[in-house]
Amino acid sequence: MATKINFNGEIHDQLSISVLDHGFLFGDSVYEVVCTFNNQPCFLDKHLDRLFASAKAISLNIPHDNEWFLEQLKVTLGAADNDESYIRIIVTRGVGEINIDPSTCHSPNIIIIVMEIKEYPEPCYEKGIHVALVSIKRNARDALNPNVKTGNYLNNVLAKMEANKLGAQDAIMVNPWGYLTEGTTSNLFFVREGHILTPSLDCGLLSGITREMVIQLSKENGFHIEEGQWPGEELYEADEIFLTGTIKRVMPVSHLDGRPVGSGKPGPVTLKLMRLYGDLIKKQL
Ligand code: PMP
Repeated sequence: MATKINFNGEIHDQLSISVLDHGFLFGDSVYEVVCTFNNQPCFLDKHLDRLFASAKAISLNIPHDNEWFLEQLKVTLGAADNDESYIRIIVTRGVGEINIDPSTCHSPNIIIIVMEIKEYPEPCYEKGIHVALVSIKRNARDALNPNVKTGNYLNNVLAKMEANKLGAQDAIMVNPWGYLTEGTTSNLFFVREGHILTPSLDCGLLSGITREMVIQLSKENGFHIEEGQWPGEELYEADEIFLTGTIKRVMPVSHLDGRPVGSGKPGPVTLKLMRLYGDLIKKQL
């Protein structure tokens, strides 16, 4: 069991990169987090599509194709030899002059980190986690579009810090107009009178791959699911709340701003989707 880092096709145990890489200096990079099942990457085609879409959105040219990434992932996963792995693929703007102008960066750096996956503790799934509706706003789509997965996460870091100060494990952010968006590294769903609701992409959020799968599973299993715009306060009326993400999967929320959500325990809709999503991952291989 090990951590291996692939740097532009070479595998290392540890890696130092230049302080002049604009990924480090300015968060000028894009990334993906992928998890494995039976040590095979889950939904890899979707993650690579999103990686290339994010790169395109910031005019970053990735000088490789999917085949190259598949090969590099295979050798890096093989070298790490974990039971299950956490994979982080980062593409930075590369090394340039110390000023903000990206035109001085001529060669992107591609870093693939493979390490043993750290799952969330089981009690989080059994009891649910605490979240807080924070004052930090999610970026507007015409500022830094949240649907582009860049290495600039300071917006989310600040939200997480605010939530932690309030005694919560994660934050829910609204957009500058007060409408619900997402968590710091997860998408938001809530349930009211048996209906599943989730903020629509035009609220300004990342189109999560787990979100997409959960929407599909909900439809296939006869749930009424709606994407829309809801003010932050609507969340206080929810019977159930859950978050979705590659590592979290489907994570129940038991408390919002210190108050119990519904019964204060994972509700029936959340429990069903947790199970359905678990089964879907197993069926991928
Ligand atoms: N929103 C944000 C801001 C995220 O960082 C993530 C994690 N990548 C998600 C949502 C969930 O996306 P996914 O299901 O693709 O992991």
